[in-house]
Amino acid sequence: MSLQSIPAGTTLIIRGGRAILPLADWHEPDTLDIAIAGNEIAGIAPRFAAVADAPIEELDARGHLVLPGFINAHYHSHDVLAKGTLEEVPLETWRLYALPPQYPPRSVEEVRARTLLGALECLRSGMTTIQDMLTLYPFESRHLDAVMQAYKEIGIRVVFSLQYADRKGLETIPYWKDIFPKDLHPLLSSAAEPERQLDLLAHFESTCLGAPPRPRVHWALGPSAPERCSSALMARTMELARRYDIPVYSHIYESRGMALQARLTLREHGGSLIKRLAAEGALDPLLNLAHSVWLARDEIDLLAATGTGVVLNPQGNLKMKCGIPPIRALQDAGVRIGLGCDNCSCSDAQNMFMAMKLFALLAAASDPLPGPPQAAAALRAATESGAESARLGHAIGRIAPGYKADLTVIDMSDPTWSPLNSAVRQLVHVEAGRGVRHVIVDGAVVVRDRRLTTIDEDEIYDAVEAVMPGFRRDFAAISERVKRLQPWLDAAHQRMVSTKLEFDRIYIPF
Ligand SMILES: [Zn+2]
Repeated sequence: MSLQSIPAGTTLIIRGGRAILPLADWHEPDTLDIAIAGNEIAGIAPRFAAVADAPIEELDARGHLVLPGFINAHYHSHDVLAKGTLEEVPLETWRLYALPPQYPPRSVEEVRARTLLGALECLRSGMTTIQDMLTLYPFESRHLDAVMQAYKEIGIRVVFSLQYADRKGLETIPYWKDIFPKDLHPLLSSAAEPERQLDLLAHFESTCLGAPPRPRVHWALGPSAPERCSSALMARTMELARRYDIPVYSHIYESRGMALQARLTLREHGGSLIKRLAAEGALDPLLNLAHSVWLARDEIDLLAATGTGVVLNPQGNLKMKCGIPPIRALQDAGVRIGLGCDNCSCSDAQNMFMAMKLFALLAAASDPLPGPPQAAAALRAATESGAESARLGHAIGRIAPGYKADLTVIDMSDPTWSPLNSAVRQLVHVEAGRGVRHVIVDGAVVVRDRRLTTIDEDEIYDAVEAVMPGFRRDFAAISERVKRLQPWLDAAHQRMVSTKLEFDRIYIPF
């Protein structure tokens, strides 16, 4: 084999891995060397010449699979400490356990610990980019500073948005206002509350969007959901997004209750949140709608026609009894599909292998007739499409010269990979994350031999343990409060699931 000379400026060479290149055979990827110069991929060749001088580092990837780092396109770092706390809780009730306004103000130490722990889990499972749609309530600049500092130190790439809204949760959930006694209404608050005087968007614009760029940080906007945002707030969001050419992430139709609420309250838009967004001029390639489980056929067509994307989160959707998104219909319509792992209190794992496998399985379940193979589609959703959702399709999500060096290296000396029949199918249907050995972000080896290199992992676990007594005390108090509300929550949920809708996404009739 003739050796190619090493590209100028190379700082790191990943040697001899089987690399998932954009146009290659993903079942049997070729063995290649990847040269990285600084934070970019400088060249790819069957074999580069030997390194003559010491400054170039070599990473032996023989017997490994090299793929573009995963992009977790929907994640919230505010409830990382709540993983494993809940089961059999429908989404509307879950809000009362999990959303930041339910909690007393948090300490800076807790904000830092949870941000690092979440990023560590993401990195260790092969993600190089996360879209953190963060609720800071009440908003404090020092909390935002702690989050950005934590991301900087740990070395993950982040597409960062604050989550905001200007309508109360109580107004947005079917039947709650009627069913709950008035004196309990103040206990039913939501992701963000309109009483706050701070103009969060103006603050975000001046301190983040208008500030000098930061390495590995990409800004986004996070209107919580159209039903929780006025038309004026959505219009302001889209104007800002277009001015700065940044993506917008919002939530739509995760639960049956959300579709029902649209039918009950948006008669002028045919009972449709998507038609409301269309009327407001908010449907746009810049916009990504997380969940999209309860979309109707004509709503999918509207997303396709306007280039609006979705981000699916199958783990949380199933756990919170929300249902199965219409994956095949979204694919057939040509809607951009990213993939995320959502909140730790509902998903609960930040694990793209689980998300990809569920994507493929639910695609199968979402249409009884055989369709296109789904393993490659799942991997594409977890990489290329996630990048495109963030307006970063030119920079991340693919292994190609000129792209950022964001790579995940998977050890194939494991039963997962023996025998090797199809790399992409085994990646999606067999690998669970055990194989993630090295993770490279922006050209730096951030995880080496399954350990974080940037911060001592034990320090992160210790910092988490130090804040857990306070978190557990507050979570226990919240649980007691929800227990008191349970009879009315059950009554509202019962009414919600028994009201007729024109289609279904979960309940299997006997
Ligand atoms: Zn979410």
